[in-house]
Amino acid sequence: MRITYFSNSQKFLYDFQHIIRAFYPSAEVKFGHGGDIHFEAYFEEMKVVLKIQTQHKTVQKEFVLVSDEHESKRIFGRNLYDLLKDETKRELPWGILTGIRPTKIVYPLLEQGLNDEQIYNFLQKEYYISDKKSKLLLKVAKNEMDILNKLESSSACLYIGIPICPTKCLYCSFSCHEITRQVKSLIGMYTDSLICELEKTYQKIEENKNRIVAIYFGGGSPAVLGIENIKKIFTNLFENLERKHIQEITFEAGRPDTIDEKLLQYLSEINQDLNVRLCINPQTSNDNTLKIIGRNHSFEDIKRAFAQAYKYSFKNINSDVILGLPGEDENDYKRTIDDVLKLSPASITVHTLSIKRASLLRFKWNEYKFMDEETVNNLLDWTQYILEEHGYIPYYMYRQKNMIGNFENVGYCKRGFEGLYNVMIMQEKHNIYACGAKAVSKFVYEGDRIERVFNPADIKLYISRMLSVDV
Ligand code: SF4
Repeated sequence: MRITYFSNSQKFLYDFQHIIRAFYPSAEVKFGHGGDIHFEAYFEEMKVVLKIQTQHKTVQKEFVLVSDEHESKRIFGRNLYDLLKDETKRELPWGILTGIRPTKIVYPLLEQGLNDEQIYNFLQKEYYISDKKSKLLLKVAKNEMDILNKLESSSACLYIGIPICPTKCLYCSFSCHEITRQVKSLIGMYTDSLICELEKTYQKIEENKNRIVAIYFGGGSPAVLGIENIKKIFTNLFENLERKHIQEITFEAGRPDTIDEKLLQYLSEINQDLNVRLCINPQTSNDNTLKIIGRNHSFEDIKRAFAQAYKYSFKNINSDVILGLPGEDENDYKRTIDDVLKLSPASITVHTLSIKRASLLRFKWNEYKFMDEETVNNLLDWTQYILEEHGYIPYYMYRQKNMIGNFENVGYCKRGFEGLYNVMIMQEKHNIYACGAKAVSKFVYEGDRIERVFNPADIKLYISRMLSVDV
């Protein structure tokens, strides 16, 4: 199906497009005219005329905006939603909410001292968020706030990106390099480049009087650097950062084929006085799906990696799973959650599949069967129920574009194992220093103004910039 939308103003264009997309996830939605369904918005000072044209009928609504820009945006969103709801006979659990950080809208309400009932009413009346999602949202916002309230304003995070993986996952949209012979030959230089950038970053951290409280090794599979390079980076970090302020070091050992005894032995030494959060990510316990999504391992490998990690006394292990993987049904997903629970990770992050433009899946999605939105929504509710039954709490949440059914990703954890970095990066209240190819630093200024600084995505370009050499 082809859908077009047109507006005589730049106002609310993002919401205009995203709310339409949320109702028609598999349609092609473009700015312009024509197509099977056409939407138009005409702004004339505070008055708006919103129109939907199909082959059989035209329906239009008129409404008036107010002086407050945020409120006007919601008025526009609700009127568009009403038109779409009548046309499709559907409702969306997240209503008109298009942002990726939903808890951010709850913070000011909590700060104003509103009680739970008043907050639910606001979310449902202003954003059309369903009763269940409003309750989940408030729970997560309160947990996030507890974590943030314990931080000093000088607290900051350090991200170290290694965008290299053994193979590329079907759904991956990151600029992640597969470890070819050529990429392997660059690993030494990449490590030197990281150290070079870290040295410059320490100066900035000092100038800004920041304290690094959470460090995150991610971007792909950091273990591909090899133990000697990893040791070099940690040695440099500990020579330059005050160990006593570091509350968490996350190491993405997501792919079990990159974990070995030497790595675990080394990280376990750090784990003796610091909190190392290890990520071992099955995504699914179904070996057939693991093949389809291009991960070069089985669920047995995940179990082995957990056993090794427990042998080295790691307690803070996170496991990522994905709901809605190609070819999977309700039973596959429920089995995955059961299998992961048997491994007793300290935290489980539940993602809903997102089909990104830059992923291979974007070009192959019609080769597979996917769960429908209602099933995904029911499974998200089931997940919350079952994980809470097992003592996990939802502590952080975000949404992505192009997720199946426009749903959410939720981090659950046993109390005391909240991922500090995850909460800080979502709430954008603290500086994030990011090193490595494709890394994005974020600096927060007064009035919540945010400046982002982007590194080149290509590792060769990154190396040549950092080391001033031709690669
Ligand atoms: S493990 Fe993550 S970064 Fe690596 S290919 Fe898969 S999705 Fe991409």
